[in-house]
Amino acid sequence: MRTLALMGIAVGKKGIVFGVANDHSLAWYCARALHEEGAELAFTYQAETLERRVRPLAESVKSTFVEQCDLSDDAQIEQVFAKLKSHWGSIDFVVHAVAFANKQDLEGHFVDTSRDGFKLALDVSAYTLTAVARQAAQLMDSKGGSIITLTYYGAEKVVPHYNVMGVAKAALEASVRYLAADLGEKNIRVNAISAGPVRTLAAMGISGFRDMLKYVEQRAPLKRNVQAEEVGKTALYFVSDLSSGVTGEVVHVDCGYSIMGM
Ligand code: NAP
Repeated sequence: MRTLALMGIAVGKKGIVFGVANDHSLAWYCARALHEEGAELAFTYQAETLERRVRPLAESVKSTFVEQCDLSDDAQIEQVFAKLKSHWGSIDFVVHAVAFANKQDLEGHFVDTSRDGFKLALDVSAYTLTAVARQAAQLMDSKGGSIITLTYYGAEKVVPHYNVMGVAKAALEASVRYLAADLGEKNIRVNAISAGPVRTLAAMGISGFRDMLKYVEQRAPLKRNVQAEEVGKTALYFVSDLSSGVTGEVVHVDCGYSIMGM
C-alpha cells in the first residue's frame, strides 16, 4: 500500500524519529510516509547492535543524521538534540515510537508486576515522551511543531497480557494532554496514534499476540487488522498542516475495533 498520491504535504518539514528497530517498526512506516511527502528525517537507535539495521534504512530515505540514543538516559537525549541543533538549527516534528517492559511483565497477571518492572515500563514507555518533548520544544521555532507518540487500546481497557504496558500507555496518553496544554502557546501540537495490533518486534514480546490479531479481525468494523502504512499515513496527517487545529488527541487507527461494546 502506498501512502498518498504525491502531494508533498511534508515538504520543508524536518524532524527526528525515535524507535526504528527494523523495517517492520511502526516508526519506520511513519518515516517512510513522511519521506514520501517530502520531509527530511533524522533517526536514532537505542543499542549499538541496531546501528547496522537502522543506518541503511536511514540512508534509503536520504537521511544523514543517525545517532545512538537510549531514551532512558537524559544525557544521551540532550546530546542528540544538541547535535540536531548543529545539524539543522530547528526542527518541525518528533515521532516517538518507543516502549519497553520486561517480558515476564507481559504474561501472567498484572498484580504480580514488580516495583522495578513497573518503574522500567513507565520510564521508557511514558516518561521518555516528556523528556523528548522538553528538548524538542527548544528546537522548534516560531512556526511551532508537531510531536507524535504511539499508544495502544490497552491504556483504556484491560487487554489480556498487556498488563503494565497498559498502565504505561495510560500515563503516556495523559502526558500527551498535559504536554499539549503546556506547549500549545508555542504552537506545538502533541498527539497520539492508538494503533491496532501490528506484527513488530515489540508486539511479538506480548504473550498471546497472535490471538489478538485473530480477535481484532473478527470483531473490528472493517473486519481486518490495521496495516502499518495506515499508521504512517496518520503520522503524516499529524506532522502536516492538515491537522493544524488538532492537539492533545488520541486518534485510533485500529479499523474501528475500539468503538465496539460487544
Ligand atoms: P519495535 O519495532 O520493536 O519498536 C520499539 C522501539 O522502541 C525499538 O526501536 C526499541 O529499540 C525502542 N526502545 C525501547 N527501549 C528504548 C530506549 N530505552 N531508548 C530508545 N529506544 C528504545 O515495535 P513497534 O511495535 O513498532 O513499537 C513502536 C511503538 O508503537 C511502541 O510505543 C509500541 O507500544 C507502539 N504500538 C505498537 C503496536 C503494535 O501492535 N506493534 C500497537 C500500538 C502501539 P530496541 O529494539 O533497540 O530496544
